[in-house]
Amino acid sequence: MSYHVVWFKRDLRLHDHAALAAAAQHGPVLCLYVIEPGLWAQPDMSARHYDFLLTSLRALDAELVQHGLRLQVVRGEMLDVLERLFAHKPFISLNAHEETGNGWTFARDRAVARWCRERGVQWQEYPQFGVVRRLKSRDHWQAAWETHVAEAQVSVPPLTGIPLPWPERRVPTAAALGLPADPISRPQVGGRTAGLAVLDEFLSARAGQYRGGISSPLSAPTACSRLSPYLAYGCLSLREIVQATRAQLAALPAGDRRRKGLSAFMSRLYWHCHFIQKLESQPDLEFLNLHRGYDDLREDEWNEAHFTALRCGQTGWPLVDACVVMLRETGWLNFRMRAMLVSVAAYPLWLHWREVGLWLAQQFVDYEPGIHWSQMQMQAGTTGINTTRVYNPIKQAQDHDPHGHFVRTWLPALRRVPDSWLFEPWRMPAYVQARCGVIVGRDIPLPMVDLEAATREAKAGLHARRARPDVRAEVAGIVARHGSRQRPLRRKSRSPATVSQLELGL
Ligand SMILES: Cc1cc2nc3c(=O)[nH]c(=O)nc-3n(C[C@H](O)[C@H](O)[C@H](O)COP(=O)(O)OP(=O)(O)OC[C@H]3O[C@@H](n4cnc5c(N)ncnc54)[C@H](O)[C@@H]3O)c2cc1C
Repeated sequence: MSYHVVWFKRDLRLHDHAALAAAAQHGPVLCLYVIEPGLWAQPDMSARHYDFLLTSLRALDAELVQHGLRLQVVRGEMLDVLERLFAHKPFISLNAHEETGNGWTFARDRAVARWCRERGVQWQEYPQFGVVRRLKSRDHWQAAWETHVAEAQVSVPPLTGIPLPWPERRVPTAAALGLPADPISRPQVGGRTAGLAVLDEFLSARAGQYRGGISSPLSAPTACSRLSPYLAYGCLSLREIVQATRAQLAALPAGDRRRKGLSAFMSRLYWHCHFIQKLESQPDLEFLNLHRGYDDLREDEWNEAHFTALRCGQTGWPLVDACVVMLRETGWLNFRMRAMLVSVAAYPLWLHWREVGLWLAQQFVDYEPGIHWSQMQMQAGTTGINTTRVYNPIKQAQDHDPHGHFVRTWLPALRRVPDSWLFEPWRMPAYVQARCGVIVGRDIPLPMVDLEAATREAKAGLHARRARPDVRAEVAGIVARHGSRQRPLRRKSRSPATVSQLELGL
């Protein structure tokens, strides 16, 4: 009996799964997940991703059991697995979602497509986000997104399963894949059931905190939806989240606080795909400046000491260091604090976004290459189409952690520092340091650079580059390719600054 392979990747659910539904219409299916050592050896991958993945795979397997099937988890490189499977038991088609992953998965998918062509296997990929493959123009992208999210959700079809033709070894541990241990003390739990519970809790209650609550690192952990890892691993479909949000918006009475929160949340779900589309349309933005006019700006000046201080939460700027510790302990940070970390890295510490981005990608459980690399470049100022966003960590602390609760939670060494010195402890007079028992340089680090002067110098360097005629000349082309069309372009003011404003909302 011939059959169809459904290759699960970052779509770890049965509900609203186009590839599974299509394959199951044509006959028995083999539900395959391949743990690829080559992927896990990439510098953006980490044990915390793997832990979330394993819980999500277990949950997917449990779902399949309810339909009388098992998830077939195989360790190996994809082409080897396909070859072996085909040799044992030829199959008719290979079905998967369209993945906008990192450079490694992009190359692997091309190799898989070639393999299928050579073996006469039908290779079918299905979109799972509002991201358009081989997009010709951004002009009608918003309409395409709307169409995607409005389509009916596909329910789980009747399934007949095919097992693997060989007994598979146990699922490898993170250590067996060479991933250094990276425990999180407060992890988000993977899997669809957990994701649905988070969605339900957000829509029914926490959405009321969204507006006004998502910027402060104190309120953000409960005010934000916390759906990012479930979207990144596909435990929930984007479409079902959008539709559930719209249904809740329609059901809530006017004036309900949650309505504003849900409207703001909806725009983030749109941005989700807007940013992934950038990587889909230009895969090299993971490695190269989106605007090549910014090449050689930070590339030749790598400062390892600055990077080590940042990664270790030892910059001496309390809010920055507290964010690094929280990220290490939980695998998550809110948008504003992520942007602030990158801003500090890119401006006063003058670090290139690529190395910083690899470190952060490993830290974020919700690592989504399309959002991540587009945001890294946007915050570092190398897209050419965004206004420079520089977040001053002292001002951010004053605005979003005015009483120092967040900083003191994650940096116990600062607990005895008086409020008035908390955000700039290096300015504490010696007698205050002695009195509170916190000596700068001994108990807490001294910042490596003068924040204001270093930021000023960095901005000047970036702006000088931005003003070069050859750099300005490239901007329109980048806007045409990647810029949001959500707001109409006003013809008269097509200067780079206005173009940047266009992108500001996105
Ligand atoms: C440097 C940097 C790197 C980032 N890397 C990632 C990443 O790897 N994965 C990731 O999911 N998000 C990333 N973000 C975007 C954002 O910070 C996270 O999506 C958000 O903090 C996740 O928490 P949440 O699900 O509670 O967000 P919510 O505010 O509840 O948003 C809901 C969903 O909308 C999407 N979203 C929210 N904000 C943005 C945004 N600014 N751009 C694009 N999509 C957005 C996400 O899918 C998110 O899950 C990054 C932001 C920055 C500044």
